[in-house]
Amino acid sequence: MNETPTRVYAEIDLDAVRENVRALRERAPRAGLMAVVKADAYGHGALACAKAAQEAGATWLGTATPDEALALRAAGVEGPILCWLWTPGGPWREAVEAGIDVSVSGMWALDEVREAARAAGRTARIQLKADTGLGRNGCQPADWEDLVGAASAAQAEGTVRVTGVWSHFACADEPGHPSIQLQLAAFRDMLAYAEKEGVEPEVRHMANSPATLTLPESHFDLVRPGLALYGVSPAPELGTPAQLGLRPVMTLKASLALVKTVPAGHGVSYGHHYVTDTETTLALVPAGYADGIPRHASGRGPVLVGGRIRHVAGRVAMDQFVVDLDGDTAAAGDVAVIFGDAERGEPTAEDWAQAADTIAYEIVTRIGGRVPRVYLGA
Ligand SMILES: *Cc1c(COP(=O)(O)O)cnc(C)c1O
Repeated sequence: MNETPTRVYAEIDLDAVRENVRALRERAPRAGLMAVVKADAYGHGALACAKAAQEAGATWLGTATPDEALALRAAGVEGPILCWLWTPGGPWREAVEAGIDVSVSGMWALDEVREAARAAGRTARIQLKADTGLGRNGCQPADWEDLVGAASAAQAEGTVRVTGVWSHFACADEPGHPSIQLQLAAFRDMLAYAEKEGVEPEVRHMANSPATLTLPESHFDLVRPGLALYGVSPAPELGTPAQLGLRPVMTLKASLALVKTVPAGHGVSYGHHYVTDTETTLALVPAGYADGIPRHASGRGPVLVGGRIRHVAGRVAMDQFVVDLDGDTAAAGDVAVIFGDAERGEPTAEDWAQAADTIAYEIVTRIGGRVPRVYLGA
C-alpha cells in the first residue's frame, strides 16, 4: 500500500527491528540469535521482520507452526529456520524438502519425520526438545533415554540428523525464581546424556527474551528472543524498553472520525459506563476489539490525542471507542496514537497490558488482520 491508510494502521519501524537485533546480540555476544517470528512476528509482519532481523545479524529464524516456516521459505527466505509446534499428520515432508529444522518432543513425531524423510529421499534436520520443567511441550526426563536412543538409531540409518537440543523456561521473566536454576541443571543433564549417546548438536538453546536479557549462563549457542525484537519489555519488573536498550517497533495510530461537543450528564458508549460531568468534547477513535483493542481496557486504555494522554471513555466497542478531550479542541482526521514509544510521549503496549490486565505480548500479537501494516525503513 502506497498511501497511508486513514482509519487505523500500525506503523512498523524495521530500523527498530534491526537496532533491537543488534542490541540483543550485544547482550549475548558468544551466541547466535534466532529471531522468533511466530504469530506473524507477534503481529508485526513475519516476512518483513524476518528479513530485517537477518539483515541485522539474526542467524536463525523460529516459528511455532510448520505453516509459518513454510510460508517464509515460499517467500524466498533462506537460512536456518526451526519450527516447533507439530501435530500428527503435519506437513513433515514439505518441511524436510524445504530444509526446515523440525522439533521433536516425542516418539510419534520421530516416527512421522523418519517416514517423511524416507519418502522425500532426504535427511531430515531435527531438534530434540527437552521438558526441563516448563511442563508444556518437550520430552520428560524419564522418556529422554528412549527418545535419544531412537533418534540416534534414526541418525545411524541416515533418515535424520539431530541438529539441536533445546528447551524453554517457565519463569525467566521472574529473575531469581528457583525454577530457573533447576531448569538449567536439568538441561545440562539431558544435553550431556544426548552427547554421550553420540548426538552432536549444532545448536543448544534455551533463552527466550527475558533470559537473553538477564541470564547469560542460559545463552549456550543460540538465544531465541521474540518479544524483545519488537522493542517491547517482557515484564514491567525487567524495565522499560528504553531501560533495556530496545526501541518499540509498532506504533498503532488512528485518525479521529468525529469530534463533537456534548452536554454534561451525557452517557458514552454501550452501557453508559461513562457519563460526562461537564459539557465537554468527545473524540471518536475508529478502532475496536475487532482490530485487537482489548475490551478489557474499557474506561482505562491510554491514547495520545492533541499532545495529551487521554483515556478510553466507557466501553471499547467492536469497531470504535471514545475519548473525552476534557473540552480541548481537535478535528476529525487528527491522529491519535494508541500505543508506540514512551520516549516520544506516547502510551505503550505495556500500558495497554496493564489497563487490560494482561501481558504486552497479547496486546501487540492481537492487533488484527483488519489493521494495515505500514512499513518504515524497508
Ligand atoms: C515464543 C517463544 C519464544 C520467544 O519468547 P519471548 O518471550 O517472546 O522471547 C522462544 N521459544 C519458544 C519455544 C517460544 O514458544
